[in-house]
Amino acid sequence: MKPSDIPKFLNKQCQQHLYRSTRIAESPQQPRMQIDGKSYLSFCSNDYLGLANHPDIVKAFVDTANTMGVGSGAAHLINGHSIYHEKLEEELAAFTGRQKALLFSTGYMANLGVINAIMQRGDTIYADRLNHASLVDAGLLSQAKLHRYPHNDLARLKTSLSQQKTGDKMIACDAVFSMDGDTVDVHGLAKLAKDYQAWLMLDDAHGIGVLGKQGAGLLEEQALSQDDVPILMATLGKAIGTAGAFIAGSDDLIDYLKQTARTWIFTTAMPSAIAAATSVSLKIIQQETWRREKLQALIQQFRQGAKQLGLQLVPSYTAIQPIILGENHKALQASEALQKQGILITAIRPPTVPKNTARLRITLSVNHAERDIDYLLGALHNAIILS
Ligand SMILES: *Cc1c(COP(=O)(O)O)cnc(C)c1O
Repeated sequence: MKPSDIPKFLNKQCQQHLYRSTRIAESPQQPRMQIDGKSYLSFCSNDYLGLANHPDIVKAFVDTANTMGVGSGAAHLINGHSIYHEKLEEELAAFTGRQKALLFSTGYMANLGVINAIMQRGDTIYADRLNHASLVDAGLLSQAKLHRYPHNDLARLKTSLSQQKTGDKMIACDAVFSMDGDTVDVHGLAKLAKDYQAWLMLDDAHGIGVLGKQGAGLLEEQALSQDDVPILMATLGKAIGTAGAFIAGSDDLIDYLKQTARTWIFTTAMPSAIAAATSVSLKIIQQETWRREKLQALIQQFRQGAKQLGLQLVPSYTAIQPIILGENHKALQASEALQKQGILITAIRPPTVPKNTARLRITLSVNHAERDIDYLLGALHNAIILS
């Protein structure tokens, strides 16, 4: 792209209703948010368990910043790896029922790191077509062949696996699809991975905290061990309410990643204060099962109400409850109509989702009240049904 092409590109983005811009939040993550000087009821945060601004987690962050400072100063392999990182890695391994865990600074980097450490030119990565962008980018960077199969189509995946005769194989998949909220058939994937000797990697960014009795995610809910799913990735910035991500797996896998994962080796460790805050969050997630129960009740309330309104729902029992509207301008119009009623739900458009599936990505949090859901349903009625 030449410098003179940039204004043309920006104009085109506007014309196609694809232009993106940031809003400025003036309050913490919570249902009632102050944004760009106005007050909104927000239904677009990934803070599903209401922990991003929890006082105990904030306190752990502040206390640790007071004793350890803010910056970690170096990568994990130099001298940036503190007792707080080490403790959190042990807790994450225990929480997920894996031998070891390794912290990364973001989920994007975790996905890039693990896939590129294992897969290379001549290998094949099998990816659901609705996988998160970071899994797609990780596959492209690895130079392995990237085979994208239709959403949740395990029959197609099986055919492709059976036809691949050379190189190593990896199935890499969202556990809970980030823009649809539906889940993957993990038992089916685990069986295919065993049958065809492929690695299986699941990205549980949206299941961790929300699914499973203890909140350890889809693999806890579905009782799948490290043997069944050797590579588990999850993020800390969504339901867990802090920032960063981790990979959990066998002793050997984690040791191997420490030698080879470039997005772990060549980057500064996350601040110790984040690790300490995350440790407190993990305790709350395991102890306060009411958070998952209340969230499920709100999800059911929303789904029943939306069905009564005749809105088309996605088969999702997670906190992600999208309403697919199709063309970009429809999603934008609905989002704007909701904003006028004091509700913030951003329109999600391509390339985040496939063409003609622009949507309102509604997310629920345990901090929403029943009356918030009622108000949302009324506003959706005005914005979509009556418009
Ligand atoms: C958000 C997300 C990521 C990226 O995690 P960050 O910590 O935000 O970089 C990766 N995978 C999925 C499925 C996600 O939803």
